[in-house]
Amino acid sequence: MQYRPFIDAALKSRFYQEKLAGQHFENWLGIPFTTKTELRNADAYDLIGTAIDQIATYHETSGTTGTPTPSWFTHKDIEQEVNVVLNSSLQLNEKDLVLNRFPFAMAIPSFIFYWSAARVGAGHIAVDKASMITPDRRVVEIIERTNPSILTMLPSEAEKLYEVGKQMGVLLPNPNLRAFVLAGELMTPSRKKHLENVWGVPVYLLFGSTETGGLFMSCENGHYHLNHANAFVESVDENGKPAKEGLKGNCVISTAREGMPLLRYANQDIIELRAGSTCGCGQTKPIMIHYGRKEDLIRMPNDREITFYDLQEVVYSLKNVPFMWKVKVLTDHVQFMFQYTTRMKPSRKTLEEEISTKLGLAVEVVFTEIFSLQKLTEKPAYAKYAHIERETKEWEWIK
Ligand SMILES: [Zn+2]
Repeated sequence: MQYRPFIDAALKSRFYQEKLAGQHFENWLGIPFTTKTELRNADAYDLIGTAIDQIATYHETSGTTGTPTPSWFTHKDIEQEVNVVLNSSLQLNEKDLVLNRFPFAMAIPSFIFYWSAARVGAGHIAVDKASMITPDRRVVEIIERTNPSILTMLPSEAEKLYEVGKQMGVLLPNPNLRAFVLAGELMTPSRKKHLENVWGVPVYLLFGSTETGGLFMSCENGHYHLNHANAFVESVDENGKPAKEGLKGNCVISTAREGMPLLRYANQDIIELRAGSTCGCGQTKPIMIHYGRKEDLIRMPNDREITFYDLQEVVYSLKNVPFMWKVKVLTDHVQFMFQYTTRMKPSRKTLEEEISTKLGLAVEVVFTEIFSLQKLTEKPAYAKYAHIERETKEWEWIK
């Protein structure tokens, strides 16, 4: 690995000039990690790795787990984001019509697909996830009217949208649909398979984050090969040493991105690196398995750890996959909350047995309404502000 470009890129930002003052760079493993807290507490301008007039867009993390983290992209960085998509097996082309349901504020994936579609001359429809103008019902209507070939969104949106279509009596997938691109949430093989079964089209995954940008698209076998020219991923153990082969480790990412370079950023993800040759798609670069975030780990009394990956694998391989689900960690046991929309749902006892056997753990299953189906099919709630109000459209009063 050539480390120097990452160090040089990082040292262009004031943040790293200060953080790494007096640092020796002969030993890569001696370079301190960058933490989420450091990025949160940094002045947004100190994180920029170039002149401000080079900046194309500014983004922030959602801030659901604390102060948002800033992220800057230059026009050159945008090229890099586009290449991640265009070099993938998705084979986005000018015949495609992309219906893009990623949120445009303040995230990055929505823009990555907008830019990529523009680059290859594909059509693009923005149906922002977080906009009041486009609730799920309207998105289903737009899919019916426009017949897109690619849908891009969060995996949980894909799960919801199919159900909304069903409630509205709309047959999905629409005839032209050829692929889904999902990002923003953990996707295990079972979840991917489940969504491919439900929608009947291949699912491609984009791995990345607001801080790092989009980094890897999954290959046709669903693997993230570490094939990004300007990103370096390490898996380290609790002592900061490279994780042993076959063991899970903490994800550390370096990106030589102009807008906001990151040097050894410990992003709180749990990963495992495997030899690329095990995939069979023809790519030889190592594979990264993503097990979810560290904060989603469930620590059992006997030192056992259950990852979000483990939970997804269990739920999405059930004989009857629920419409929506949630896991509640209680003081003495783990509760699975399931919402089924079919009249015939499995018995609680059957589910508890199935999950307990797979997880090796006593669990409780409860049925509950996580999403109100009525709310899911609601009409748009937003309208433009009206300056003129009328009682009548007729000019009766002048008669
Ligand atoms: Zn592969």
